[in-house]
Amino acid sequence: MKAVRLESIASMTMRSVEKPVARPGELLVRVLAAGICGSDRHMYKGEYPTAIPVTMGHEFCGIVEVVGEEVTGFTGGELVTVDPNIACGRCHACTRGRVNLCEGLTAIGVTRDGGFAEYVAVPCRQAFTLPADLNPVHGAFSEPLACCLHAIDKAEIRAGESVAILGGGVIGLLMVQLARLAGASQVILITRQLSRRQTALRLGATHAFDPTASDAIAAVRDITHGGADVVIECAGVPETLQTGLQMTRRGGNFVLFGVTPRGVEVPVLPFDLLVNEVDIRPAYLNPFTHSRAAALVASGALELDMLVTKTIGLEEVAEVVGSAPLPGEIKVIIRP
Ligand code: NAP
Ligand code: ZN
Repeated sequence: MKAVRLESIASMTMRSVEKPVARPGELLVRVLAAGICGSDRHMYKGEYPTAIPVTMGHEFCGIVEVVGEEVTGFTGGELVTVDPNIACGRCHACTRGRVNLCEGLTAIGVTRDGGFAEYVAVPCRQAFTLPADLNPVHGAFSEPLACCLHAIDKAEIRAGESVAILGGGVIGLLMVQLARLAGASQVILITRQLSRRQTALRLGATHAFDPTASDAIAAVRDITHGGADVVIECAGVPETLQTGLQMTRRGGNFVLFGVTPRGVEVPVLPFDLLVNEVDIRPAYLNPFTHSRAAALVASGALELDMLVTKTIGLEEVAEVVGSAPLPGEIKVIIRP
């Protein structure tokens, strides 16, 4: 079968490999759609640890083709989405329900072969069934959506509150929709590209503006009369961390979601954070949110087609992952 392999840092190729086998407890999934994520570009550049060589791809959806021994709950032929993050279940974090902080976390498409391939073998407990008639491209959004749901859980948006979202990539545009579904009265997206601001307004944002054209902090404070009740940082750059903290209302929640490069420092004003009791809440990965993400995708409550800006075959993956996102690009989907 064909697979896209990260052979070494900055070297990725599509080549023929042995079709994987479903071992006991595993499913063999024929991949129908897979998403390219910003982390794939980080892994390619060596900025995020991987078990090289590896077949990449941690956001995917497909059909169960072979059910391994000792698997219950699957008969074959189901459309499934797969939670790529495999917790050990036994460490201190896992035994306290903090599976995203597992000390022995492994991940499909990162430390074991993933979904940028025609087939992938996955532990059956990582797979969640989707309606058979669901568009598999939508199913491939379950993984990023599951991470967003963890952030939305941490944000604790109450109906009627105001939410500011920094960064209008696929994550920010999913967060816009989730904030609306959570009942936010104002959803403000701050991002530089005009096309993304236009998309956000079509997806339910009440305001969208360019942080380079005006004072983002003043604008949010003005729109919300004092600061957003919830701020979700989805850009992963020092500026948005700094400005986001300052546009959070006194007593509000600031959710740290964007990944800044390791070692990056951001100056903060501890006095202001203290007297305003800004509650900084990091949200990392998808602890127990993948099945809810699958259910939400299946419900049709989210607009996902608008987020797909390009569809490619396996032969184009290395070029896309190896280059910076194009202007206007939101999500690139692979159909193997
Ligand atoms: P992305 O496409 O890179 O989106 C981030 C966007 O932020 C950029 O495209 C850019 O859009 C915008 N941005 C950059 N600088 C900005 C600034 N100064 N002010 C406002 N916006 C700015 O990435 P994504 O896939 O949507 O993911 C967003 C972040 O979430 C990434 O850091 C990713 O690594 C992280 N992430 C975290 C988790 C987790 O579990 N915590 C899971 C998945 C992803 P414009 O060009 O329009 O400004
Ligand atoms: Zn663990």
